[in-house]
Amino acid sequence: MTWGVAIHGGAGAIPASLTKSDQKSIAEALDDIVSKAAASLQSDAAALDVAQAAVEALEDCPFFNAGIGAVLTREGRHELEASIMDGSTGRAGAACGLTTVRRPIRMARAVMDRTDHVFLGGPAAERCAAEWDLQLVDNSTFTTSHRKAQLDAWLEHKRPADRRHHATVGAVACDVQGRLASATSTGGMTGKMSGRIGDTPLIGAGTWADAKVAVSATGQGEMFILASTARMVGARMQFAGECVEQAAEQVLASMPPEAGGLIAVDHQGRTAMPYTSPGMHCAARSAAT
Ligand code: ASP
Repeated sequence: MTWGVAIHGGAGAIPASLTKSDQKSIAEALDDIVSKAAASLQSDAAALDVAQAAVEALEDCPFFNAGIGAVLTREGRHELEASIMDGSTGRAGAACGLTTVRRPIRMARAVMDRTDHVFLGGPAAERCAAEWDLQLVDNSTFTTSHRKAQLDAWLEHKRPADRRHHATVGAVACDVQGRLASATSTGGMTGKMSGRIGDTPLIGAGTWADAKVAVSATGQGEMFILASTARMVGARMQFAGECVEQAAEQVLASMPPEAGGLIAVDHQGRTAMPYTSPGMHCAARSAAT
């Protein structure tokens, strides 16, 4: 019986604005969240629930670009997106254009569990969230002073001072029954156009899970969409017989330099966390040898 879990808090260059104490807090938050996820897996929790719970905890942590602490559009608002996939059933749920849903990953899970669809977006999705009793908050609830400063820098220079720092969050898990799941959540990119949709809510781009691997990506979303990144990792394992490390590295190597990174776990609990950006906030635990 084996299990494995990996989480990320985004790929990119560590911005100068991030103090040493912030970096320590980020490392501690990741360690705490991955340890809790590992403990749940050891207690026989399902991969899907563990991946979702880890992303919820990351959405609550203001350092990351998801939920509280999400980046701002050029109009100074938050448009959040998330997706989740259950590799054991092949089912998935996703949502985008969320402005008031407190935990976007719960919305993605609700789309998967409560509808025949995979992807809901915009005001109609938010009406469903209200019907489903998901917590709704004012859009400003997600704003931190750090994200305001990032948007001000973007508006001044038409690019954020630390534009290569992404902080989207994600989790992949393999439970003791060998089931795999992946979850990813983000605010997108600082200064994005209203209505822009990145890779995060797109099944096959930012999120993928099947019987062999679960993947969650982070980086410059347009590149991940064009490369079908998350699905390609699964495809290389399925059709080329590559192991999780090889598949993950090869897919990233085929993308433009510094595109970002990804986390992956296979059905034996082995994890891979490659990145081509200068860094990636991530952590993993595994019982695989
Ligand atoms: N991939 C995300 C996006 O493009 C950004 C990130 O990873 O932080 O929306």
